[in-house]
Formats: sequence, C-alpha cells, structure tokens
Amino acid sequence: MNPADDLDRNTIFDGFGRRIDYLRVSLTDRCNLRCRYCMPTHGLTFAPDDALLTAAEIESVVRAAAGLGFRKVRLTGGEPMLRHDIVDIVGRIAAVPGIADVSMTTNGTRLPQLAPALKAAGLRRVNLHVDSLDKANVEHLMRWSHAESLWAAADAAEAAGLVPLKLNTVVARGYNDGDAVDLARLTLAHAWAVRFIELMPFGTSAEAQFSVDHYVPNSEVRARIEAALGALEAVPNADPADEARNYRLADAPGTVGFISPVSEPYCDTCNRMRLTADGKFHLCLLHDDEIDVRAVLRAGGDAEAVRDVLRRAVAAKPTGHSLRQGVHTEDRRMHAIGG
Ligand code: SAM
Ligand code: SF4
Repeated sequence: MNPADDLDRNTIFDGFGRRIDYLRVSLTDRCNLRCRYCMPTHGLTFAPDDALLTAAEIESVVRAAAGLGFRKVRLTGGEPMLRHDIVDIVGRIAAVPGIADVSMTTNGTRLPQLAPALKAAGLRRVNLHVDSLDKANVEHLMRWSHAESLWAAADAAEAAGLVPLKLNTVVARGYNDGDAVDLARLTLAHAWAVRFIELMPFGTSAEAQFSVDHYVPNSEVRARIEAALGALEAVPNADPADEARNYRLADAPGTVGFISPVSEPYCDTCNRMRLTADGKFHLCLLHDDEIDVRAVLRAGGDAEAVRDVLRRAVAAKPTGHSLRQGVHTEDRRMHAIGG
C-alpha cells in the first residue's frame, strides 16, 4: 500500500466532533517589531534559547501530527523569520509525508532576504502583516515597522511565488480604522486577499484593556468600505475552516475578508491546534490551557509517546472562547502564542 493512502485514512476529532487537521507552530516569542496590541516595549521576558523546540523536535511533533491526520502547518511567532534555522525548519516540515501545505504568518521584514530560499525549501505562501498604507500610521501602530519594508516584503513574496498573498490588518480605533478603505482598494489592482482582524484581548488586564478600548467591530469596517468602494459580494469559502468571511468588490481580482472572533466567533468550525515555541500545545487561542510536549520529547519519548500527548491535547480542546464571559488568555500575550 502507498504510505500516503494509509496517512489519508487517519483523522482525529476533538470532543465536540470537530476534525483537527491544522497545526500552527510558533517558532519564537521574540519579534523585531512592537505592535501596540501585541507587545509592550518594556518589561518583556522571553523564553531562553534552550527552552525553544529545536528544528528536530519540531519535525518530530509535525510527524506525529501527520500520523494523526494533520495536513496543514502554519509557522508563526513572534517573528518566525528571526529563527536562524528557519529555512531548515521549513524544509523538514515540507518533507513530512502527509503534510500538504506549509505556510507562514510574518511581518515580512526578512522576506526580501529569505523568500527564494524559503520557497525552495517548500514554503507555499505567506500571510503578511500590514496595518496601514499610511507611513505615519504604520510607525505609530506597528511601532518599529516602516511602510517601505511592507511593500518590499509583498514584492519579494510575489517574486518568489509565495502566493496567493494574504495581507492581515488588525484594526484599532484611533490608529488605523480610517485606513481600511485604502487597504481594501488594493484588491482592485492586485489578486491579494486583504483581511481585517478584530482586536482580541491578551495578557494582564491593563494590556488587555488596550484591545477593549480600541476594538472596532468588523461590521463597521465593512460599512466604511462599502460606503467608499461599493457593494461587497460574498465569495464562497473554498475551505470550510477558513476563519475569514470573504467578499469581492465589483471586478476586483482580489478579495476582502473579515476575521471576527469577537463579534462573530467561528469556534464551531475550529480545526486547529497550536504549538508554542517552548513546546506546549496551547488548546485554544483565547484560553490558558496547555499540555507540555517538550518534556516528553526531552525524556526520550518515541513517536507514539508524542502522538499520545497530541491525542490528549485534541481531546481536551475547549468548545470555544469565553470572551463574553470576560475570560481571555492571561498567561501569554499574542507574540508568545502565535495568533
Ligand atoms: N509576527 C508575525 C505577524 O505579525 O504576522 C506573526 C505573529 S503575529 C502574533 C500573528 C498575527 O496576530 C498577526 O496578523 C497580528 O496582526 C495578529 N495579532 C497580534 N495581536 C493581536 C491582537 N491583540 N488581536 C488580534 N490579532 C492580533
Ligand atoms: Fe511582532 Fe507580529 Fe506581534 Fe507585531 S503582531 S509585535 S510583528 S509578533
């Protein structure tokens, strides 16, 4: 029998009947930017290097996941391209039988240097973080970023064939809520998916308050775009687990998407498991529950032992987030989970 056929028969479901087949792997909690809703500029502590999973350990977890029916892997962080072994990691994951799609969420600052090597190693596409087209707004909201580097990243991704390109925009009132129209207008000229993400609270209550205070519902973002650019026509989701609701402006080659975890939670179609850079399965983005896999790896656990931890993690996934009950992730900020 072809081993790929055998892999195709494997599937894993959580306690609520959701098929879990998508692993988001955070490679580091460090970042070269300090987006206001994600990382403070002071008082941060980072996982020490020896706490981070090595490339070989990440490969072991991905092999275990593929054995249980996971098919997609997304690399994230912090900024995943800060890992000096990023090309090796991509190559190892892309070579795992059963893994059909390897992608990355990135701020793009290192893409001009790395895009061709990442593509050659097996990376298929990138989601690029772009909060504004306005130079001053980029520097205000994403702090150490520059508008020029975002465009250099988009060019590099397209030149290397890391497509279709998705642009992720987190909307924060008073910072970039006025920029949504210009971002959506990009889809009239480019075959890009421009996606607007609602702010979510993380970290201490003082930090989480930023997201509460600056939250903009996507219904408002959509209304602004339609008032300026015309009606958005719904585009059927090719992937039922796509967290974005997608639309198209008339005759646009690209699409406009809305990711609305706060106003329209999509927990009932959740298909994902998260692995933190320090080797914990983080069971739901917006809860603190975790199960340690690094300890099993470093105690010499074999493939079955790693699969067993992952089975337990999938079985323990909560039904969904509890933001309306005032519960959010307090132990980790977004940069230490990966989004
Ligand atoms: N550094 C990479 C980047 O910015 O794309 C990858 C990691 S970042 C944590 C992943 C995604 O999380 C980004 O699209 C970012 O905009 C989003 N994000 C960060 N903090 C957020 C928050 N408080 N609410 C909603 N999305 C957030
Ligand atoms: Fe860094 Fe991404 Fe967080 Fe911005 S959102 S600080 S780029 S990890």
